Amino acid sequence: MEIIDTDVLIVGSGGAGLRAAIETQRYNVKAVIVCKGGFPSGCSSYAMGAMQVAFDLQSFESQLRDTVVGGRFINNQVLVKIMIEKSVEAAKELEEFGTCFEKEDGKYRLFAFGGYSQPRAIVSSKPYAGGWIEGLVKRVRELDIEVIDHVMATRLLTIGREVVGVVGLNLKTGNILTVRAKSTILATGGAGWLYPITTNPPGITGDGYAIAYQAGAELTDMEFIQFRACIVYPSILRGQPPPADGMVSSGGRFYNVLCERYMKKYDPVRCENVTRDLIAIYTYKEIKEGRGTSHGGVYNDLSGVPEKELERFESFMQACRAAGIDPKWQPIEWAPGAHHFMGGIRIDEYAKTSLNGLFACGEVTAGIHGANRLAGNALTDTLVFGKIAGTSAAKRAISRAPPEIPMEQVESEISRISSFYKREEGMDYRLIRIEVQNIMNNYVGVTRKGSELIKALNELDRISKQIQNLYIASEEKTYRELGELLETINLITVGRIVAKAALIRTESRGAHYREDYPRENSKKWLNNIVFFHHNGEMLVEIKPVNLAYIKQ
Ligand SMILES: Cc1cc2nc3c(=O)[nH]c(=O)nc-3n(C[C@H](O)[C@H](O)[C@H](O)COP(=O)(O)OP(=O)(O)OC[C@H]3O[C@@H](n4cnc5c(N)ncnc54)[C@H](O)[C@@H]3O)c2cc1C
Repeated sequence: MEIIDTDVLIVGSGGAGLRAAIETQRYNVKAVIVCKGGFPSGCSSYAMGAMQVAFDLQSFESQLRDTVVGGRFINNQVLVKIMIEKSVEAAKELEEFGTCFEKEDGKYRLFAFGGYSQPRAIVSSKPYAGGWIEGLVKRVRELDIEVIDHVMATRLLTIGREVVGVVGLNLKTGNILTVRAKSTILATGGAGWLYPITTNPPGITGDGYAIAYQAGAELTDMEFIQFRACIVYPSILRGQPPPADGMVSSGGRFYNVLCERYMKKYDPVRCENVTRDLIAIYTYKEIKEGRGTSHGGVYNDLSGVPEKELERFESFMQACRAAGIDPKWQPIEWAPGAHHFMGGIRIDEYAKTSLNGLFACGEVTAGIHGANRLAGNALTDTLVFGKIAGTSAAKRAISRAPPEIPMEQVESEISRISSFYKREEGMDYRLIRIEVQNIMNNYVGVTRKGSELIKALNELDRISKQIQNLYIASEEKTYRELGELLETINLITVGRIVAKAALIRTESRGAHYREDYPRENSKKWLNNIVFFHHNGEMLVEIKPVNLAYIKQ
């Protein structure tokens, strides 16, 4: 076992983690980035690269209102305001680091997406091709920050309610790494792989939620998962979102298999130009009621989109053409897939969690997006709160001595991991993973109802009682598979929290749609549902939302 000492440990090399790491360097502290994927990895590398930026007072006010209205008043408005106030600074810094945005005559091109009352988003000049994160990667390299990739953090180390580092598994060598840190930042992204169809890249399995929860941190708003269009045909693009949400603001349209423009039926005025949750719910209904295509999706007709607009999505166009489809004339097909987790670890305005020494930023946190996220707010969130987390973590580390390492926790984690590796028979983790994803999709999906949520909880509880029996059935038995097995356990933990939260919230709000409670009930539910783990038990608290600036 290897032990590494650092002032600040950053777990995750997406936008939030990299931005946090960069900021620590202003304070002359040692920072180490540990990431399960490569450098960089996570959703940030696949993003379209749209960022909401409030360049003037009107944009500031509209972004605040649109974000809170889109989030159905569940957002922590203090965090939302901070994000918007610091959005210009965040975008300018990213540009200085080396990311390029679309411009016309030297000015940013501003785009509007569903739920915007005015164009406000700037977009990377290399959409979906890793363009947005380029500047951060360059800056981390320039600063020579240590990056340890292909290491999965499997557990937080704690002394009482203080986090003092992590234990990690090297997915290439199987070695165990212990990192002792004065401050730890979780930037592990969301959990799209809790569902069988997702826009998220592999590895986004809710590890951060699970390990923070196991260590006693508070999670909130876990019932709110944004489902978004995922291409199901051509299959080479499966899981990828159609460009710019179906390019509805430039003429893209959705049709069912009967060639009906079905969004007209549900929202005759706005049609496709509604928030993603509504698009997902209506489309899911079309598919569930048998009006889906043979690939299980609906058509996205892009023939009305100007050619120049389409050609901006170079890699998408190339992939379609390689698959024998010209999107200008032939529709692509999509179905709702898990896209974004609005819920996560509760943080305050300093990115502090409820555990001392533990900070969090990016999609692993809750509060900014409320019950539903507007396009372009996630990347702004990663930069603004990444920077804040980096500052807070570095400042905390400056004046502290290195903490003790709780060796008994390290040893028990090593024995947990190796027992799964050594096991020769039991339940094949790959089958259990698929089972968990199907349970989530069938009973805790785009639309939910009490009886199905109870079914999901019973099924997940049954599986979680047998976790000890998980094993790697393949002959090769790689450490990557061991990592996937551990991810599966995290998915079960997260799935139980999501299902429980969805059952408790007896109303429909934002991305959480209950067939048995189809209306929003603000008298009862202007509250956040908070989960934490204590003495082996899942505890729940209901806390009023922060309506600091905009009342419903
Ligand atoms: C296809 C797509 C397009 C998108 N486009 C946009 C857009 O245009 N605008 C917008 O605002 N939002 C967009 N989003 C959402 C946005 O990209 C994400 O919310 C955001 O990038 C999350 O950043 P993050 O740094 O929090 O996490 P991620 O970028 O997902 O990074 C997570 C990191 O954590 C690491 N990790 C995970 N678990 C562990 C572990 N156990 N141990 C160690 N490391 C771990 C991963 O390897 C990765 O490095 C898009 C999302 C997708 C999927």
